Amino acid sequence: MKHNFGAGPGILPHEVLKQAAEAVVDFNGTGLSILEISHRSAEFEAVLAEAVTLVKELLNVPEGYSVLFLQGGASTQFAMVPYNLLPDGGKAAYLESGVWANKALKEAKYFGEAQVVATSKESNFTYIPKDFEIPADAAYFHITSNNTIYGTQLHKFFPSPVPVVCDMSSDIFSREIKVADFGIIYAGAQKNMGPAGTTLVVVKDDILGKSGRKIPAMFNYQTQIEGGSMYNTPPVFAIYVSMLTLKWLKAKGGVPAIEKENEAKAKVLYEEIDRNPLFKAVAAEEDRSYMNVCFVMENPELEKPFLKLCDEKGIVGVKGHRSVGGFRASIYNALPITSIHVLIDAMREFAEKNK
Ligand SMILES: *Cc1c(COP(=O)(O)O)cnc(C)c1O
Repeated sequence: MKHNFGAGPGILPHEVLKQAAEAVVDFNGTGLSILEISHRSAEFEAVLAEAVTLVKELLNVPEGYSVLFLQGGASTQFAMVPYNLLPDGGKAAYLESGVWANKALKEAKYFGEAQVVATSKESNFTYIPKDFEIPADAAYFHITSNNTIYGTQLHKFFPSPVPVVCDMSSDIFSREIKVADFGIIYAGAQKNMGPAGTTLVVVKDDILGKSGRKIPAMFNYQTQIEGGSMYNTPPVFAIYVSMLTLKWLKAKGGVPAIEKENEAKAKVLYEEIDRNPLFKAVAAEEDRSYMNVCFVMENPELEKPFLKLCDEKGIVGVKGHRSVGGFRASIYNALPITSIHVLIDAMREFAEKNK
């Protein structure tokens, strides 16, 4: 049994994996694999409908929003958002809080002006910029709720005069949010919702159709809404496994229950990092992520031997992103607190050995 701290594709609940494996051979007693039934079959339509219902329930999605399961990852949303919302020659506002935010704003530049309202680039994104103004003439304001690579997270959202578009790829379903505060929420499934291959989009219907631009069908939210995420063949398996994961989450008590667990997990791990003389946290304290915990060593020469110890203990995926170095423990919804304790014990054992 491994303790999977990988950043993405990330850990999924074991029972979900078992159900998914069964469905690959025989889906719900149909005698057919989930991989070989028609996406227009009643069986798959029920899966998609249930996935959409679960998203609406778990996030308390209000009236006037559509829930989509698309393809192309969060990276396609980087382009699809300005394609749909940013008029030619218009302006959009971006908070540059990391590399993903930067990639999103680069895509917006193909369609109009992408104004950076604030950046923490000068500090290698160790904090969330907070002191800035959002231009009232922007078509939308784009933020990244959790910066997967740097381990920073928005613990408070900014009031905005324009629709807020939020990349929630790495903290969707990890904590309670108010959907009504957002124009678009999007998230690649593979961090906290399911396997790679589908992207969740929650879009407020009345912000669409205002860019005056002609948009090819697959890139047009309106076509996707009208097609019920089935304008073309949807990623059936990724949607199926996402649905199972959302069902698992609901059975656990939904987002409020997992939020408590996530807080408890992050708290004990940061406490150990702060206490242990060999390690130090990377992110500014008030912006620390509850999903991706980034830390380095006071003595970088000890990093390799610590990774070796982790490997021996079945702790995988803790090597930090190359642009930050050190370690990153991704502690997504499906990671049990017992795995956190295994990591903490390894940190203590290592500190004892290297006194
Ligand atoms: C992983 C990640 C992405 C990229 O997602 P893809 O689905 O691979 O395109 C974008 N934004 C954030 C915050 C991420 O963590």
